[in-house]
Amino acid sequence: MSNVTKAKALMAKITYQLRPPETTTMAPCKNCGRSSPGGQSCADCLCTELETLIKNKGAVVRWSKSAKAAAEDEALILTYARRS
Ligand SMILES: [Zn+2]
Repeated sequence: MSNVTKAKALMAKITYQLRPPETTTMAPCKNCGRSSPGGQSCADCLCTELETLIKNKGAVVRWSKSAKAAAEDEALILTYARRS
């Protein structure tokens, strides 16, 4: 698997993990034991994996922040959609 494919797969998993907790069942992360959606590796562990893969922590931190903000905004839109 190429690093680009690996990075894409990791970003997809991280995006999934960043969704607000009420939409999924929480279980301990299989690496660090912290509470994580679906009991998969948590976003922090996956980000560390991605940082190691691309050898750039700053880029991962920046991306994960905006991905988290987008996930929260999406949840907010859906909250309003349910009320409207
Ligand atoms: Zn973890």
